[in-house]
Amino acid sequence: MTDETYDVVVIGAGPAGYIAAIRAAQNGLRTACIDSWQNHDGTYTFGGTCLNAGCIPSKALLESSELFYRAREEFKAHGIGFEKLTLDLKALLARKARVVGTMTGGIAQLFKANRVEGLAGRGRLLKDGTVSYQGPQNEARVLTARAVILASGSTPIELPSAPFDGERIVDSWGALEFDRVPKRLGVIGAGVIGLELGSVWARLGSEVTLIEALPTFLPAVDAQVAKEALRQFQKQGLKIALGAKLTALDRKKTSLTLHTQTSPGGESTLEVDRLIVAVGRRPYTDELFEPGTGIELDERGFIKVDDHCRTARASVYAIGDVVRGPMLAHKGEEEGVMVADLIAGQNAEMNYDVIPSVIYTAPEIAWVGRNEAELKKAAIPYRVGSFPFAANGRAHALEAPTGFVKILAHQTSDEILGVHIVGPMASELIAEAVLAMEFRASAEDLALTIHAHPTLSEALHEAALSVSGRALNAINRKPA
Ligand code: FAD
Ligand code: NAD
Repeated sequence: MTDETYDVVVIGAGPAGYIAAIRAAQNGLRTACIDSWQNHDGTYTFGGTCLNAGCIPSKALLESSELFYRAREEFKAHGIGFEKLTLDLKALLARKARVVGTMTGGIAQLFKANRVEGLAGRGRLLKDGTVSYQGPQNEARVLTARAVILASGSTPIELPSAPFDGERIVDSWGALEFDRVPKRLGVIGAGVIGLELGSVWARLGSEVTLIEALPTFLPAVDAQVAKEALRQFQKQGLKIALGAKLTALDRKKTSLTLHTQTSPGGESTLEVDRLIVAVGRRPYTDELFEPGTGIELDERGFIKVDDHCRTARASVYAIGDVVRGPMLAHKGEEEGVMVADLIAGQNAEMNYDVIPSVIYTAPEIAWVGRNEAELKKAAIPYRVGSFPFAANGRAHALEAPTGFVKILAHQTSDEILGVHIVGPMASELIAEAVLAMEFRASAEDLALTIHAHPTLSEALHEAALSVSGRALNAINRKPA
């Protein structure tokens, strides 16, 4: 008979849950991790939204579509010609599936190697603190654990005016699987998903229109960065309607008509073949715990936790998208590490102030720390240093000399308070800024650090020099 007693049971094997499970096992704790993710063909896989329908497949498609776009638009500049550029969408999607398969299969192997018991099926926290498990064949078990970690993730928000039908009106998962390139594609929501997946299909040939309710483009992003990004996206042909709300939708035989209201008071209609609804995600807690467990939700449905991800019930933790904070894989992963260490009796903290954000468009957008508006609001005096990729040799070699790096440092202490990048490989460049901020570096520290030449990272170096008006490869603004 199986021993059903564990130190830790994790519900959810997305990036938050599977990392928590591995770390708990590394800490010598007997750990089980339950996950109910089912692919369209009914198979179960670990990895959650991120690996199955989020970060990984979207980045695979962004890469393929970027190559296609560059072949079409940029190869000429390199002197490379070809007879005819073709697109085999089936092969492109098959590659994406292989990438996903490699990554999700990797988790199963890691579970095995770390002796985490990975269980396919649903888990539910019961009133007495045990976890009920129901497997694919309805087999039932009750698992007893010293600590339970809830990591059930999030799910797309559905608009009542445009409910998903899995074919023409789809969520982000559906948008990763179109069987042909839609001629006209509508996207509701010009947020992270709208921009990334809108870019994918635009590069492959769709005429893409994004409909965004807010009048400001990417309000969470530094205003100067957002302005430059909007300019570049529009140049690429993405149509972005700001301050526009979907009021009605007509389903016709072969198309969808979107009726939108644009402020102030204007109406317009748009004919599309397919529609992606990407208006945010909500925490997923359906059937996750029995009433009476003591777990509390906030007004938006997130599980209430403290800074250490402890819920209102002792010995139950919650991490990842299902709790407050940015819905990002790496945020959930670090919470998983923290919680697994706490359960093992170690000290653990998480620095929520230096979580990087990235939008994987071209150019990419990446930032960490505070932006100018936030510093002004908090009345923190700061200096700005910036450097354009137009003055960076590597960016020219890459045929991507657009965008800039901007560093905000404290007026008197020179501590770096925020770094904002729009440009090539911003997703990779931001790591240096995160490390600098984690070590509470000053702009001068970064300026005194030797950067290899020619690299994109030199733009960060030069931006740091520019904080004190000493950039070497660009004309300096007068320091504030
Ligand atoms: P999830 O990944 O959602 O995993 C939760 C798991 O729990 C799921 O497998 C679910 O089936 C399971 N589960 C739920 N309830 C139960 C239950 N009762 N019993 C058993 N199992 C259960 N973030 C980034 O940082 N970078 C990116 O590039 C990025 N790209 C994205 C692209 C798209 C299209 C989308 C949709 C999201 C993207 N994200 C990205 C966000 C990222 O996917 C999430 O932040 C991340 O997956 C959250 O991890 P999680 O472990 O909290 O939840
Ligand atoms: P989001 O919050 O980034 O964007 C949603 C957008 O939809 C917002 O701009 C919002 O104003 C708009 N909106 C809301 N209701 C609307 C309506 N009725 N009509 C028109 N516009 C409307 O959310 P998302 O793009 O759905 O992504 C969900 C989450 O997934 C995000 O929190 C993000 O962190 C995460 N994600 C991250 C990455 C990444 O890290 N690169 C990629 C994809 C998703």
